[in-house]
Amino acid sequence: MKIRELTVRYGKFNAVDHVSLNVPPGSAVGLVGESGSGKSTLARAVAGLVPSRGTITGIDRSKVQMVFQDPYSSLNPRMSVGLSIAEGLGPRMRRTARRTEVERLLDLVALPAAAADKYPRELSGGQRQRVAVARALAAQPDLLIADEITSALDVSVQGAVLNLIRELRTELGLSMLFISHNLAVVRYVTDTVAVMRAGRLVEAGTVDEVIGAPQHPYTRSLLDAVPRLIHS
Ligand code: ADP
Ligand code: MG
Repeated sequence: MKIRELTVRYGKFNAVDHVSLNVPPGSAVGLVGESGSGKSTLARAVAGLVPSRGTITGIDRSKVQMVFQDPYSSLNPRMSVGLSIAEGLGPRMRRTARRTEVERLLDLVALPAAAADKYPRELSGGQRQRVAVARALAAQPDLLIADEITSALDVSVQGAVLNLIRELRTELGLSMLFISHNLAVVRYVTDTVAVMRAGRLVEAGTVDEVIGAPQHPYTRSLLDAVPRLIHS
């Protein structure tokens, strides 16, 4: 996917301001920046959920899936896990094939087949986020956008969800836009990273370049916010 000069306006204010960014097929690009920098707005524009100016090429918008911060609000509480995931499969599949595919997707996100009969309230936050990922994968997306998917989780389960994302990348060769305000989290999942500030990209490059030799003072301040990164 190639994003060129993407701009999203809210009134007179550019929440995303002439952003250009590439997500080559099969690659995972991290998008980092403090709260309010425009990351989610950019994601919504890519998914076609908000109007934007500029161009987005090399991607079919109907093949973009998003996973959000709060899995509790993105899953229907009255729908079983199995039904929620099956919904992502689309209408043209027989019942037995759906059941098999739901089980395959649950297995892919390291949940037991029995989870299909559970309801979101019966699951932990980490398990719910796995369901949200499975539901997104059911649609066989060409691009998965993960927007702060570990930010609402207990620290104890964040690592497991990040590991899952890493495994899925390797296993499925997913193209991914991985968004977080936390550079340490982004670094764990992606090889390249773009840094956003007040609607603009201030720098982009490989994780080693951006973290090893940040060009912009803003990136340095993001790094200072995660001091253990510098020593790891
Ligand atoms: P981030 O995801 O990086 O925290 P957002 O994309 O959510 O940032 O927000 C970027 C800016 O756009 C913020 O200043 C936010 O207040 C503003 N904003 C987001 N959504 C809307 C909206 N629907 N209407 C008006 N302003 C918005
Ligand atoms: Mg956001």
